[in-house]
Amino acid sequence: MTAPDGRPCTMEAYVTALFQEVPSEALLRGSIRAWIRGDFTAALRPLPDHARQRLTGEGEAACLSLEEMKAQASRCNCRGADDYCPCQNAPDRETRRQRLIAQKGGDA
Ligand SMILES: [Zn+2]
Repeated sequence: MTAPDGRPCTMEAYVTALFQEVPSEALLRGSIRAWIRGDFTAALRPLPDHARQRLTGEGEAACLSLEEMKAQASRCNCRGADDYCPCQNAPDRETRRQRLIAQKGGDA
């Protein structure tokens, strides 16, 4: 789910991953600057492989769109208030089902 400007995922998901994975304030700052410049390769570089793959992965592993985050929040006890809740960071069963439907859609 790549946005028109080439960003690999929402900035919210990216910044959440950065704060979780990157301990250096300077590195964090530089990475966010790279993101704002539109240099997403540089922006993702400091993240460990598993986090980068989660953000850039296709299909099941792809990070959440804003619409998906809202839909998942409505299904979760946290109601989307907790940015670190899995509902705001990873696709749940319903989202994965919807993505499958969307992939097959159009010619149905
Ligand atoms: Zn939640």
